[in-house]
Amino acid sequence: MYDVVIIGAGIMGTFIARELSRYKLRIAVLEKSNDVANATTKANSAIVHSGYDAKVGSLKAKFNVLGNPMFDKVCEELDVPLRRIDSLVLAFNEDEMTTIGELYERGISNGLKKITLIDKEQVASLEPNLNKTVLGALRTTDCGIVGPFELAVALAENAMDNGAELFLNNEVKSIDKVSEGYIVHTNEGSYKAKYLVNCAGVHADEINNMVAKESFRIKPRRGQYFVLDKSAGNLVNSVVFQCPTSMGKGVLVLPTVHGNLLVGPDSQDIDVKDNFDTTLDDLENVKLVARKTIINIPFDKVITSFVGLRATPDTGDFVIGEAGDAKGFINVAGIESPGLSASPAIALHVVELLKSISGGFEEKKDFNPIRRKLTRFYELSEQEKTEAIKRDPRYGRVICRCENITEGEIVDVIHRKAGARTVDGVKRRTRPGMGRCQGGFCGPRVIEILSRELGINMLDVVKDGVSSKILDKETKGI
Ligand SMILES: Cc1cc2nc3c(=O)[nH]c(=O)nc-3n(C[C@H](O)[C@H](O)[C@H](O)COP(=O)(O)OP(=O)(O)OC[C@H]3O[C@@H](n4cnc5c(N)ncnc54)[C@H](O)[C@@H]3O)c2cc1C
Repeated sequence: MYDVVIIGAGIMGTFIARELSRYKLRIAVLEKSNDVANATTKANSAIVHSGYDAKVGSLKAKFNVLGNPMFDKVCEELDVPLRRIDSLVLAFNEDEMTTIGELYERGISNGLKKITLIDKEQVASLEPNLNKTVLGALRTTDCGIVGPFELAVALAENAMDNGAELFLNNEVKSIDKVSEGYIVHTNEGSYKAKYLVNCAGVHADEINNMVAKESFRIKPRRGQYFVLDKSAGNLVNSVVFQCPTSMGKGVLVLPTVHGNLLVGPDSQDIDVKDNFDTTLDDLENVKLVARKTIINIPFDKVITSFVGLRATPDTGDFVIGEAGDAKGFINVAGIESPGLSASPAIALHVVELLKSISGGFEEKKDFNPIRRKLTRFYELSEQEKTEAIKRDPRYGRVICRCENITEGEIVDVIHRKAGARTVDGVKRRTRPGMGRCQGGFCGPRVIEILSRELGINMLDVVKDGVSSKILDKETKGI
């Protein structure tokens, strides 16, 4: 019997698992995909928002403002890339000047300290490449950019190092209420738990409806992006927003924590919850809208495009709390933006909630908050590189030439807890295939390494999802 079963291994499920692993509890995380962070958490703008956008008094505002300053400690403990940078919301006309004034007031009401309104000369000195038609901007200096999937992977690893169990390829199909709690049935087996935490992203309403009466619905809202080559990464220094609309925060231009440039997302309500397809027309529209910010964004440097799905609830706010008619069943649902920014604070809140429902948990004396650091070969000094190669010659073999990733780094992320099992799983953890050639050169080598390290046939190595086979059959009788 588990104390807590968490459904979903996105940023919410992994954060809650990690925070619960501080206590003497049996914890299971059930994830339908073959990797953690394989839904909304892998495809977003990766911003640690300051917290001026969400409505005053909302859960979004509360947890965003509380969550933002928590990132520095957790990213340090878990060796996850985080960069603190400014954010700017641009105004191009008098109406938008009014909007940024309102956002400023909202930010102050939400408790922000590092927020100002700046004029067009100040904007130009901070961001010389923006269109000269900018009239002014809202500036915050406590924004951040983070590696969202790296964070979720690191949280899962740290939770497992502290005893939590992760069950991938386990899709929750039904849940029975029993006298001591719940039995969760997946395609792989059944898991009994005293408490359930529903972190199932766009599917969280369906999970809720398995045990409680319908109280919210989730619509997927698609956002599409371009990723540009690192040679375009310095086009802006800040996260640059246009004024928000009822559909969201609008198309942004921002650097990524690894030095690429991100442009997007658009915003479209769609019907199919797991549709991650990009569409040419909408991507063209992203280009068009982004040119309002910078006329000459070098779109010839696009290296890939992707889709993220917002889990938009019909309540207008995060749905967090025990379901009224299902004791011990906690919803963490409708976690659309700023869900990533809010995640550390939501996780602590959920732990406190479970403690109050259960009467308290006993702390583990040996909880270890530190994750073993990754070796990032390209960041090492010459002497450190020599030592790493001496220790393990696989650090001397560069597999990904775009990102300078060695075989040693790839093998390491395969063998960690919550380790990589797919080509994209390796890519998200240590970046081979994230560069200009998008895996054109290193992809086959990564397949070989996965096959060798996992002891599986190369034909069975998948790109990402369980059915995304890459190789069909052997050629030339090899
Ligand atoms: C376009 C876009 C841009 C965004 N930008 C930002 C930003 O810059 N800053 C910010 O703070 N937030 C941002 N967000 C929001 C942020 O990405 C989300 O709030 C966050 O990733 C949600 O995490 P989650 O764990 O709730 O959901 P998910 O990451 O979707 O995880 C849910 C998990 O549950 C699993 N699951 C679903 N059903 C089942 C089942 N039946 N059984 C088992 N497992 C199941 C899924 O496979 C998935 O892994 C953005 C979102 C989008 C879409």
